[in-house]
Amino acid sequence: MAQAKELKEKLFNRFPNGYQVMEDAALAACNDYAKGYMAFLDKNRTERECAVFAQKLLLENGFQPVDEQRTAPYQAGDKIYKIQRNKAVIAAVIGKQPLSAGVKIAAAHIDSPRLDIKPNPLYESDEMAFFKTHYYGGIKKYQWTAIPLALHGVICKADGETVTVNIGDDPGDPQFVVTDLLPHLAQEQMKREARQIVKAEELNLLIGSVPFKDDAESELVKLNILNLLFEKYGMTERDFLSAELCAIPAFAVREIGFDRSLIGGYGHDDKVCAYPALTALLECGIPENTCISVLVDKEEIGSDGNTGMQCDFLRYFIADLARSAGLADRDVIRHSTCISADVNAGFDPTFPDVVDKHNCAFVNKGVCLTKYTGSGGKGGSNDASAEFINYLRRIYDKEGVLWQIGELGKTDLGGGGTVAKYVAKLDIETVDLGVPVLSMHAPFEIIGKIDLYEAHRAFKEYFKA
Ligand code: MN
Ligand code: MN
Repeated sequence: MAQAKELKEKLFNRFPNGYQVMEDAALAACNDYAKGYMAFLDKNRTERECAVFAQKLLLENGFQPVDEQRTAPYQAGDKIYKIQRNKAVIAAVIGKQPLSAGVKIAAAHIDSPRLDIKPNPLYESDEMAFFKTHYYGGIKKYQWTAIPLALHGVICKADGETVTVNIGDDPGDPQFVVTDLLPHLAQEQMKREARQIVKAEELNLLIGSVPFKDDAESELVKLNILNLLFEKYGMTERDFLSAELCAIPAFAVREIGFDRSLIGGYGHDDKVCAYPALTALLECGIPENTCISVLVDKEEIGSDGNTGMQCDFLRYFIADLARSAGLADRDVIRHSTCISADVNAGFDPTFPDVVDKHNCAFVNKGVCLTKYTGSGGKGGSNDASAEFINYLRRIYDKEGVLWQIGELGKTDLGGGGTVAKYVAKLDIETVDLGVPVLSMHAPFEIIGKIDLYEAHRAFKEYFKA
């Protein structure tokens, strides 16, 4: 029997629970790191807010805006960044090796599912005022009713001024809500297919109920709202046409569980990878290879548009770097690697049937390497090479990074994608790595502190290697 035990130790693969293998000092560091993340997540809920946060942090850490026309080579240790149209961020630390040795990229996204406010949103019905919404990303619509929502975004006004809107997070702020039907009268509603229990056009945001003075005009509640908005922002109804506003959950980020091992909050997907990707870059010192963190928008709707990963702005950024060193972009790109930093589905004991337990990520077992995503027969997936996974595996095993492997659920059940395939398309070795999430895309998502901390370490060791 002793021999079998010994042999098992030697031959079996095992992904341990971090709480059973991590030293006290590491757990203390993990808790400290979680505090910083929670403060970040509490305040930065949209891609625009994350971009502003990142820029401030980068400037504080000695990063300079990139000079896209530069023709002189950078020096090792130079730190540059670019904000892409207010919604995406690229930051780089120049390494000791020439750029022709390739760059190391950590790519995460900073957009999250939400209810966007429609371009012509404001209406009054039966003396109540509402905003029409248009959901963004994959949501279970019924989860977004009867919860407190905050309003975030910008309004670009007729006079050219852009005002930032952020209502509902500060104590004392009013909040907003999508109403739902009382169970007593929901007999017909509850017969609907789950996808339609709440229909998209029923996601109407309640924003007020007071009519404008004692007047005989119609739509007086709407008028009163517009009057309040005019007083506060100097805007008229027409200014909504050039606004980007969204309703997002107004829950505070909180520790979850008696043991406080988990974090609940809105938008872990994918800020729980974006934050570590950014902080790891700040701590990379003067790396061997040039290291780049890129935080993108629009992942939740397919990475389209000029702030999403399908846009060439990352390639242009690398091309500008290459030119400064007298190289062509492809000379740099073909030797480059990327960790596509995105969340994976954490195993939920309440819903065990949706995953293959041998190939899924568990909370507290560390950061999850995902060889491929996609759906069905790997359709639409970047299928990372064994060689690249081995490269990372050897770094992580050597440095004691707690990591595990996971697919996105049972093969026939569904699936999903990340930015990985758009980076790989450039001719870059790419693999997905990230934090397991429970209740992904819900208004309140859950992650484990250990997995967050190990994501940070995974990016750091990757940049350092
Ligand atoms: Mn994601
Ligand atoms: Mn997502």
